[in-house]
Amino acid sequence: MAHLTDQEIASKATIRPIGEIAEKAGIPDEALELYGKYKAKVDIKNLKGNADDSKLVLVTAMNPTPAGEGKSTVTVGLADAFNQLDQKVMVALREPSLGPVMGIKGGATGGGYAQVLPMEEINLHFNGDLHAITAANNTLSALIDNHIHQGNELGIDQRRITWKRVVDINDRELRNVVVGLGGPTQGVPRQDGFDITVASEIMAVLCLATDLMDLKARLAKIVFGYTFDKKPVTVGELGVEGALTLLLKEAIKPNLVQTMEGTPALIHGGPFANIAHGCNSIIATNTARKLSDIVVTECGFGSDLGGEKFMDIKARFGGFKPNAIVLVATIRALKMNGGVAKTDLGAENVDALKTGIVNLEKHIENARKFGVEPIVALNDFVTDTDAERNFVLDWCKERDVKVALTQVWEKGGKGGIDLAKQVLEALETENNFKHLYEDELPIADKIEKIVTEVYGGDGVIFTDKAKRQLKEIEDNGWGHFPVCMAKTQYSLSDDPKKLGRPTGFTVTVRELIAKTGAGFVVALTGDIMTMPGLPKVPSANAMDVKEDGTSTGLF
Ligand code: ADP
Repeated sequence: MAHLTDQEIASKATIRPIGEIAEKAGIPDEALELYGKYKAKVDIKNLKGNADDSKLVLVTAMNPTPAGEGKSTVTVGLADAFNQLDQKVMVALREPSLGPVMGIKGGATGGGYAQVLPMEEINLHFNGDLHAITAANNTLSALIDNHIHQGNELGIDQRRITWKRVVDINDRELRNVVVGLGGPTQGVPRQDGFDITVASEIMAVLCLATDLMDLKARLAKIVFGYTFDKKPVTVGELGVEGALTLLLKEAIKPNLVQTMEGTPALIHGGPFANIAHGCNSIIATNTARKLSDIVVTECGFGSDLGGEKFMDIKARFGGFKPNAIVLVATIRALKMNGGVAKTDLGAENVDALKTGIVNLEKHIENARKFGVEPIVALNDFVTDTDAERNFVLDWCKERDVKVALTQVWEKGGKGGIDLAKQVLEALETENNFKHLYEDELPIADKIEKIVTEVYGGDGVIFTDKAKRQLKEIEDNGWGHFPVCMAKTQYSLSDDPKKLGRPTGFTVTVRELIAKTGAGFVVALTGDIMTMPGLPKVPSANAMDVKEDGTSTGLF
């Protein structure tokens, strides 16, 4: 059975009408907006319940291989295990972007027997949220350029527009473009660029807003550029936050779907964790918290990226905390962190595990830094050997680290019962959750703290440009914002080649961008790009559609 692809497994699964799932989740009819048979949006105005009665389980991970280490898979499987243990549980996940779907990593609907359904529709277009975000973002671009063309009353310096256009696919050709060519009737020429939609501030704003009016207030605060006097200019000054909110008023409603075992799942918002804050929307998490006793949610990549940003950005703005942290590890990622080439990860290699386990050790320490004792989920691959499994399990046990061999990919919820029981035990005691830094700490010190404490580095180097921007940010009164680090997911450092647990490194911050609507400052490190490129052989090359409309090649 295990040799079937994710898409084949998903296509054979029983899918229930979404009304049944809504009923199970306790969503009243007046809050349910159907999008076909198997998907719905939830109108949060019509929901009751106290979110603070619920427990939140955060799933994060060690540094991954390019294929991903199964965070979504474990998130879904763990929720199904809770469901089997008769707990009232919901899943909260991010929505997939076409970049990874068409590129190298695949979709974001879990894997094996721990998936959310309908897999194909979630991975492609879903309920239109990413299209709405793209439209809102590019409407703002058009309005900015039109304002300049029509006389530029606000005095916007077209060389200092920080707002970029977006598209939801990896398109390196669009990283730098010139717009407005063709003469006086075609606009005012300027250099522009495209980011991928999931890196856009509109996505971050949608994910951090607590309701529609908060969304509008945040949109109004977005700074999209500077005047000739170098003063920031906001969407509010342009007077278009109403139109942008209008474009997003359906997208702000969380999307209800189901796991393969019928557990209700909310999938909403999808910022990347290497170039954005990496968590599903606060609205979806809060909706799930209102509706269920336990919410299982994930954040992107490792505890150094999505994990840190969940604790320092999402939890701060959402006013909640993780009651338990699950740390996903795989034998293949441990071997890669132990120096094994990608092509050799299939062969047994306990020595490489012994070298690579230091990576997991740092992620365990990171969870503890936030005051939460993690539970390691060893996401089992059928190709792992007993010697390899035992090494990791023993290593954890010898150090009093809680660990569960997790076989949800192969067995669904049944394969996650041990993990679920250990998480339940952890949920019984209060943890000492704390953010890494307080709002008042200057931006440079916040970054220094993240680099030295979470990444294990010696310190930060700011380029001259970054130093200038640091001053502008503090001068403009944005120094109290949390920081959203943009960094490679492969290493704890800013160099993707430094695997394991690197020491003695510094991280270079080359640029800082204040996202005043989202309410954070993005720090760009290393070569990280806000518009990724496609690989030599993209996943798209293996995709197809048959005459009857069924598709192949998604994973
Ligand atoms: P992440 O959320 O960490 O990026 P995913 O859950 O999306 O990872 O999984 C990435 C890919 O790895 C998916 O194609 C999934 O089917 C596959 N995968 C995950 N866990 C396993 C496993 N235990 N055995 C085999 N394949 C797995």
